[in-house]
Amino acid sequence: MSVTNLPVAAQKTVLVAGGAGFIGSHLCETLLEAGHRVLCVDNLQTGSEDNLRPLERDSRFRFIEQDICTPLHPKLKVDQIYNLACAASPPAYQADPIHTMMTSVVGTKNLLDHAAAFGASFVQASTSEVYGDPEQHPQREAYLGNVNCTGPRACYDEGKRAAEALCFDFSRLGRADIRVARIFNTYGPRMQPDDGRIVSNFLIQALSGDPITVYGSGEQTRSFCYVSDLVRGLVRLMNVENAPATPVNLGNPEEYKVNEFAQLIAELVGSKPRIVHEPLPQDDPQRRRPDISLAKTVLGWAPEVPLSEGLPPTAEWFAQCLDAKTPRLMQ
Ligand code: NAD
Ligand code: UDP
Repeated sequence: MSVTNLPVAAQKTVLVAGGAGFIGSHLCETLLEAGHRVLCVDNLQTGSEDNLRPLERDSRFRFIEQDICTPLHPKLKVDQIYNLACAASPPAYQADPIHTMMTSVVGTKNLLDHAAAFGASFVQASTSEVYGDPEQHPQREAYLGNVNCTGPRACYDEGKRAAEALCFDFSRLGRADIRVARIFNTYGPRMQPDDGRIVSNFLIQALSGDPITVYGSGEQTRSFCYVSDLVRGLVRLMNVENAPATPVNLGNPEEYKVNEFAQLIAELVGSKPRIVHEPLPQDDPQRRRPDISLAKTVLGWAPEVPLSEGLPPTAEWFAQCLDAKTPRLMQ
């Protein structure tokens, strides 16, 4: 890992909740590379210590195995907190839906209290799922969303909506400096091969010569952001001088039908795609594409990595996972 010579005075102690997960581990790595001290808090529900192995060699990195539903140690002094703790794939967050909801509500409240105690800035990893099955397209931050509050995705969507509400209440009450990122579908190395999301499923299936499982007609759309772009956006959001007054969409506005995405994956892997259709999960959003005008204006941020550049290293990661006995290896 390359380390910049950040002056000690500029070094911050940054807590990353969910730091053993896919996006969180890339964020921890980026923060260490920038010269900061990093405290990773994770209960390893969907993350893995394997994601942290190279970071654990760095004396400025510390891993604390803990569920954020339990308050942090009151003496754990921090300057910044990123809250990425929450299972993100639909099968994973639906496996224990009550814990998913508690993670977003009780867990976020605990981290906000901690930020308030230390005057730490706080970035909440929210999600495009707060827009539900959107009636407006593309989705702008002002759109209030169309979420089914009693369906199987509600534990995640409504949990994240409640977490946003908590953040803005802490802000209105003058208790914490908060920033909220609404993250759209993100992909890259260190996604778990078995997490059930579209990128992991399609790549593992194509690489294994298995049929690609398209849910429903495949006419539904998603927009895919490479993980390095996303992490750059999160860091920019944390460090922009004036906290934006609203959540900020972070995602890649290039939109693909699931059918188109299946073709792209098959072409990349060099296989003749055999598509099988499976039932569309309940409440599966039909269209999703971020309007990123706000991120461009307030953060000067836009994604730089197109699918043609982001998919090959991701495929390489999944190929390594398939080669290995244990699926979770560092890239
Ligand atoms: P991930 O499942 O790989 O990472 C989540 C991490 O949080 C895991 O390491 C998990 O063990 C940990 N965690 C879960 N519940 C916890 C709890 N109660 N206490 C402590 N740790 C806990 O998912 P990811 O894709 O890296 O997503 C990271 C964050 O970004 C999540 O909050 C997710 O909602 C958000 N997000 C991700 C995407 C995406 O496409 N990847 C899209 C929108 C939002
Ligand atoms: N999907 C699919 N086949 C799969 C996995 C997902 O067709 O094997 C579809 C899913 O129905 C959704 C889209 O791909 O329309 C994205 O699903 P994912 O689980 O990655 O995330 P979501 O955006 O729904 O949270």
